[in-house]
Amino acid sequence: NGTAAAARSDLFTVNSANVTYSETDILSKYTYRTTDVTKDDSGKYVATPKETVYEFKTDRKVPKLGMMLVGLGGNNGTTVTAGIIANRRNLAWETKEGTRAANYYGSVIMGSTIKLGTDAKSRREVNIPFHDILPMVHPNDLVIGGWDISKMNLAEAMDRAQVLEPTLKQLVRKEMASMVPLPSIYYPDFIAANQEDRADNVLPGSKASWDHVEQIRKDIRDFKAANGLDKVIVQWTANTERYADIIPGVNDTADNLVRAIKEGHEEVSPSTVFSVACTLEGVVFINGSPQNTFVPGAIELAERHGAFVGGDDFKSGQTKMKSALVDFLINAGIKLTSIASYNHLGNNDGKNLSSQKQFRSKEISKSNVVDDMVEANTVLYEEGEHPDHCVVIKYMPAVGDDKRALDEYYAEIFMGGHQTISIFNVCEDSLLASPLIIDLVLIAELMTRIQWRTQADGDFKSFHSVLSVLSYMLKAPLTPPGTPVINALGKQRAALINIFRACVGLEPENDMTLEHKLF
Ligand code: NAD
Repeated sequence: NGTAAAARSDLFTVNSANVTYSETDILSKYTYRTTDVTKDDSGKYVATPKETVYEFKTDRKVPKLGMMLVGLGGNNGTTVTAGIIANRRNLAWETKEGTRAANYYGSVIMGSTIKLGTDAKSRREVNIPFHDILPMVHPNDLVIGGWDISKMNLAEAMDRAQVLEPTLKQLVRKEMASMVPLPSIYYPDFIAANQEDRADNVLPGSKASWDHVEQIRKDIRDFKAANGLDKVIVQWTANTERYADIIPGVNDTADNLVRAIKEGHEEVSPSTVFSVACTLEGVVFINGSPQNTFVPGAIELAERHGAFVGGDDFKSGQTKMKSALVDFLINAGIKLTSIASYNHLGNNDGKNLSSQKQFRSKEISKSNVVDDMVEANTVLYEEGEHPDHCVVIKYMPAVGDDKRALDEYYAEIFMGGHQTISIFNVCEDSLLASPLIIDLVLIAELMTRIQWRTQADGDFKSFHSVLSVLSYMLKAPLTPPGTPVINALGKQRAALINIFRACVGLEPENDMTLEHKLF
């Protein structure tokens, strides 16, 4: 106890006076180094290195975790469920290209590695799976459940989704058939009218009510008890809703929002009702769709209860490319002048988005994703200057879940020249989104086990209720009120890695490799 040797089955231990392992926790004393910038009298910047010492405490007990999805019977819900079952059972199946086996490709946590350090003898990099940096839940161990307004069992719903190979579906069909989503709340005004024909599994009432909050809370408790779970995380992967108007007195504060739900106000969306229920149940709620679920009142309520929320909108295909490519272009000193983004898709998401109000939610979510990168480059862009940016989405049933994303990036280069990059990206939508659903759950769960304090403070506390550390997986990252949004993919990954490294007392990953340059 109290020494590095106490680490049990972990892949590595950190050999440092600043890190102690106990049976229950990893305790790390970490010096966070930043740079304070001021201006002197002559207007010149003065950069002053600053150090803050934090202690991080990570609970080592990996809980038995439940993942409850809102929209369980949809393309994402059925695909991620079948994928986890296939992984859990180590399945392989025949395709026209040969045998394929279950994997977690596309999950940052399960499919990527991070550099632990440099081998002391060979001086080569030592890389470890991301999943092993801290004690995390394995996705194979997730217990899955959730709600849908459609009562189709998951085997039939997986057929409806038209995503997975028939041979794979055959292998998971029995287990999937035994899963039927819980009835959900359905306020028709919030999703497209064309969804109405699948809404055969709904709780009574077509606008917000406190009964709905209580029922969702009960569903979570029942699921937890029935499966002997330590913890549950709820994620919205249901249809994109229209934006809710922010109305003073209705959803602007926690108290007003609670009252508005009790009074059955029509401007409270189903996703916001889920958020309130999860917050009151002390369960993390993550929003994978673009609408403004987290109205100011919902965030205030989460803060008040010390509950965690994360969102918005899975960043799977086009936007992920955009937040990598634009980061590259602008950091290469190339002046991006326009982005034209066209999509067409033929799944139920596309059908729902063919309705103007729901498309508008997606358009907003997709539109601001380069702002921080543009703003940071004061050489290429004047203050307030932006590249032109246009987003179009069309419903094309024939392409099903294989979304087409066509993007043109137009840029100004040296001496008035131009560079045009055209991308044709076929994003197998649900196959890209499913691993993100897993990552969001795994990371959010871990964040509930990490606490911090500064040297001055006595008590350990949690991270802020709004988990901006999830940004890598999300198109329009939600951040604590008043804090900046980071969209650049590289920065988002670095934040994730380096926060986790700090928890085991390791310096931020850097690529200086002085050991290969100074000898
Ligand atoms: P989908 O339409 O196949 O699935 C959504 C499911 O939600 C449906 O089964 C529907 O019946 C159900 N539903 C609707 N309202 C509900 C409610 N109030 N309560 C419970 N269930 C409800 O869509 P999908 O392809 O699975 O995508 C889900 C969401 O994720 C969409 O909003 C989409 O915009 C978002 N998203 C998807 C991706 C991706 O790559 N697949 C990326 C970003 C965002």
